[in-house]
Amino acid sequence: MKRLVVALLFAGWYSYGLSPAAAHAGMPPLVGTTFVIDPGHGTRYPDGSPLNVGAVGPTGVRENVVALAVGEDLARRLRDAGARVVLTRSYAKPFRTATVLRLDNRARAKLANDLHATGFVAIHADASTDRTQRGTSVFWLKPNSVRLANAMRAHLATLGLGESEFRARDLAVTNEARVPAVLVELGFVSNPAQAQMLATSAFQQRAAGVLYDALVETFSR
Ligand SMILES: [Zn+2]
Repeated sequence: MKRLVVALLFAGWYSYGLSPAAAHAGMPPLVGTTFVIDPGHGTRYPDGSPLNVGAVGPTGVRENVVALAVGEDLARRLRDAGARVVLTRSYAKPFRTATVLRLDNRARAKLANDLHATGFVAIHADASTDRTQRGTSVFWLKPNSVRLANAMRAHLATLGLGESEFRARDLAVTNEARVPAVLVELGFVSNPAQAQMLATSAFQQRAAGVLYDALVETFSR
């Protein structure tokens, strides 16, 4: 067994030495990268305040549930592409504990700083008192996030939901992050048509796919 491993290692070296381009072509695109993926909300408060579920749509779809499903799917795609991924919430640990949401959001982005992450993506869904409001949004703050924000915008457009906002915005996560960071809003849970879509696993997978495409476009080696 040991000899086989050595032989395989040698074969790897040998082919790399002969043809770096060919060896590279077979490599997953995100080897060597680290991403912190942050499914928004899902925060519990020790003072007994209700669980922070984020926005809730007319049919009961909850932002924290949509964000977690998209985040887990995105994490799986990134790992398959060779990236190291840390989720701020996961199916295994769906809730966080904090006293103030803004401080919790800062801690989520700080995790990306501490890990010297390649990028940070906060996943949310939007809400408005105007039920006709629709579309995806991308927010960032610092210049090192502009490339990622542009890629996110281009790939989110392929979902066909329309665009709500695209701008630099001082949010807890975009302010705290020192690594390239965006916060995306995947449509409006307050819009009945978009809420219905956001609740389906087909849409959640499609959304994770476009976030993944934007990360590959921005950070593949
Ligand atoms: Zn949110």
